[in-house]
Amino acid sequence: MRYINFHTHYPPADTKPEIAIVSCVAPEPLQQCPPGIWLSYGIHPWYILHSNMTNLIEKVKTLAHNQQVIAIGEAGLDKLRGPAMDIQRQIFCQQIDISETTQKPLIIHSVKANNEILSLRKKRKPLQPWIIHGFNGLPQEMEQLIKEDFYLSFGPRIFYSDSKAANSLKAIPSDRFFLETDHTNKSISALYLRAAEIRGISTQELEEIIENNFRRLFGNIIE
Ligand SMILES: [Zn+2]
Repeated sequence: MRYINFHTHYPPADTKPEIAIVSCVAPEPLQQCPPGIWLSYGIHPWYILHSNMTNLIEKVKTLAHNQQVIAIGEAGLDKLRGPAMDIQRQIFCQQIDISETTQKPLIIHSVKANNEILSLRKKRKPLQPWIIHGFNGLPQEMEQLIKEDFYLSFGPRIFYSDSKAANSLKAIPSDRFFLETDHTNKSISALYLRAAEIRGISTQELEEIIENNFRRLFGNIIE
């Protein structure tokens, strides 16, 4: 089995059974990770600091060109935490631009903001894929998002049997999802087991599905 952890804050100890995108958040430097572990870099809405927004954006622009950085983010909107929405929106839109100019997909943190992010995608028509990480919406919301070409990444909420995340994961088309541990200490293998159970398929089938999705977004960076 080769697991792909789409979004984590902790590099895996052994790269062999696991491919991961480690989320590095400005103004922190890039984490040192061995080849095979990939990074995303961006400004998390929680950590937007008014005083040095320009510096933060410049830092993202620079590090976005690093070869190990394969995605921009996590960027996004959080209606429960962080600065005022207009500031969050401004920083998010600047990162949409960075994602487009560097041609790297955008990993999105969205709390109570899926509708707004959906309409931003409709309005801006970006060419890069957008992936909402830690998705915990209802199946109807999932459907609206995938209609606009979003990808969704599911985290440990799928362990709760009647959670919105578990119900959405059950119904989402195979070519639209990933799994992630985010900042929890859950193992990615446990997430694969649980997701396979929810979808009624084997973990091998799931491995193939997620690998195909990963290749669609990032080309042949994995063997
Ligand atoms: Zn995260």
